[in-house]
Amino acid sequence: MMGPSHALSGAAVWLAGSWALDQFAGYEQSPLAIAVGTAVCAGGALFPDLDLSGKVTRNQGGATVARTFGVVSLFVAEVIEKISLGVYHATKLSKDPHRNNGHRTLTHTIPFTVLVGWGTTALCTAYGKWAVIAILFFTIGLALRGLFDEWAKRAGWVIVTLVSLGAAYFTFLHLPGDRGYPMLGLAMGVGCFVHILGDLVTRAGVPILWPIPTGRRMWRMIGPPDRFSIKAGSKFEVVVLRAVFTVVSVLAVVGLAVPALTRRFTGG
Ligand SMILES: [Zn+2]
Repeated sequence: MMGPSHALSGAAVWLAGSWALDQFAGYEQSPLAIAVGTAVCAGGALFPDLDLSGKVTRNQGGATVARTFGVVSLFVAEVIEKISLGVYHATKLSKDPHRNNGHRTLTHTIPFTVLVGWGTTALCTAYGKWAVIAILFFTIGLALRGLFDEWAKRAGWVIVTLVSLGAAYFTFLHLPGDRGYPMLGLAMGVGCFVHILGDLVTRAGVPILWPIPTGRRMWRMIGPPDRFSIKAGSKFEVVVLRAVFTVVSVLAVVGLAVPALTRRFTGG
């Protein structure tokens, strides 16, 4: 799937999950907390593709998400891609093919999503609000790039970076920190997982079983049979899937807002 679909799927899953938690578990969140979780989950749903590096020195190539913060994120993508390739080579078995590129390897595994979720929580616990502001800045930037890709392309990375900074600072000022930030780590982890699911239905597949070896292969790409696979950028993805994610998001927002508004006006 392409960037905008990944971001949209992350937002839809987080909003639907928040609605379900509110509805069935009585777990209420403030509108700001829901908005922050949605942005972090949408941004997290783009994070695994930061393993698609381009040519940093020439400022070319890379996934759209790798261009969020200009050459800086392009460089980060380069580093993540090389680390992924290193892990691939270090753990590959005899039947795994040789690779020159680390795309769709380490960052597209379940252990990675767990590591990202745990790492985010650990950073927030250790560094408090400063970690929160950094994580928000980073994920809001990715989310903007994904959700409003046309605008982001026109605006360029400087504007995207400034808007992300502004949004992160606003949140920093208004997000209560008394309960800690358990939702941020969860939103990042869920976002990464949703990304992997999105790639799982494409033809190339993802190494979802890693690190469980099957038939002398550690990095077996798991995907649907060709007939059922979704082609990146196809009509089905761009029209049908994105419409579904949008409808789910809107329904969840309505579902979350209506009871809260009713409570406010009836005083109940
Ligand atoms: Zn991917």
